[in-house]
Amino acid sequence: MEWTPRREDFDRYMLPVYAPLEAIPVSGQGSRVWDQDKREYIDFGGGIAVNALGYQHPALQRALEQQSRRLWHTSNVYTNEPALRLARTLVDSTFADKVFLASSGSEVNEAAFKLARRYAHEIHGEYKYEIVSFQRSFHGRSLFTVAVGGQAKYTHGFGPVPAGITHGQFNDMDSARSLINDNTCAIVVEPVQGEGGVLPADPAFLAELRRLADAHDALLIFDEIQTGVGRTGTLYAYMNYGVTPDILTSAKALGGGFPIGALLTTDAIARVFTPGTHGSTYGGNPLACAVAQAAVETINQPEVLAGVTQRAEQFHQALAAINARYNCFSQIRGRGLLIGAELTSELSGQSQWILAEAMRQGVMILLAGDNVLRLAPSLLIPENDIAEGLARLDRVLSQLK
Ligand SMILES: *Cc1c(COP(=O)(O)O)cnc(C)c1O
Repeated sequence: MEWTPRREDFDRYMLPVYAPLEAIPVSGQGSRVWDQDKREYIDFGGGIAVNALGYQHPALQRALEQQSRRLWHTSNVYTNEPALRLARTLVDSTFADKVFLASSGSEVNEAAFKLARRYAHEIHGEYKYEIVSFQRSFHGRSLFTVAVGGQAKYTHGFGPVPAGITHGQFNDMDSARSLINDNTCAIVVEPVQGEGGVLPADPAFLAELRRLADAHDALLIFDEIQTGVGRTGTLYAYMNYGVTPDILTSAKALGGGFPIGALLTTDAIARVFTPGTHGSTYGGNPLACAVAQAAVETINQPEVLAGVTQRAEQFHQALAAINARYNCFSQIRGRGLLIGAELTSELSGQSQWILAEAMRQGVMILLAGDNVLRLAPSLLIPENDIAEGLARLDRVLSQLK
């Protein structure tokens, strides 16, 4: 008999960087998941905004199976067809002229920050290396990306961290103006701060960042790792905001559950990277690219994107009704199917209990920031699953005092 691991084996064998919940998911279909004990859950978390097409989507399965019978890996000594197809698809559907592929969000943000510094160095000179970021932002877990991220808890004890990074107040134009100057090489922002608490940028704030970047010859970087690939109801959130970045990073939903990241930029910026300046062993991996190609093609359809907005409406209405019953949220916000419900101050400190109790009631949710319930379900989640999952969430919140 094959050994069946259980939750306690996590503590026995794994580095304790996570504190996973008790249940171990073993299979999924659409927006439903089953654990080792055959308990069923409705998934409102989507593997942290990754499983944008739910579980076992036939287009993704087909892409993975077909590519698995051809070629898994080539190295970047050669290029490959799936990588080139994906790059062309991303270029054809966005502002970008060029794409860099890697295996995760952190990795493409790392590339974005290096690219911005290299660009400023080549075009303007050595003095221009400062990166302006914002408090509560999240850009990944490598040393450079935690330094650019706006949360001290992620850099604590890891210093010295890369220098030349400042953090303004998100959605505060005066704060941004006070930090951006001719030494700034890049401004980096999430159009909707995800980990920080599902905080959408004001359109005027992003427009002002664009203006400031232009005024100081700095590059504007949008980290769309969480907001990208349909999540907010457009292929990328910038399209709805009407503000175009110079560099955009994408991951999470891009692979629909297969690890991949993409950096998108223009020809003029891409030119400063030459063979050898940057790279990644798995970047452009044929399996990852074949799946991502299927994910992007499936999601970038008018009816799928319109469906995101319709489903978001259903969530917002039902959450407002829950709030009318229990008065548990101080604000319900977000863009498309990235939804945040901030708990009232009386309920602060209860979010971990809510997360665990939601599992007991059969619904998977996420947290963000200190006190925010975050939902990032499949973009295809059926109406019935939304209703049933919210009924389960209602049972959780009805128990709060
Ligand atoms: C998840 C996330 C990252 C990091 O991506 P990884 O794949 O975990 O490295 C970076 N930025 C944002 C906005 C994210 O949501």
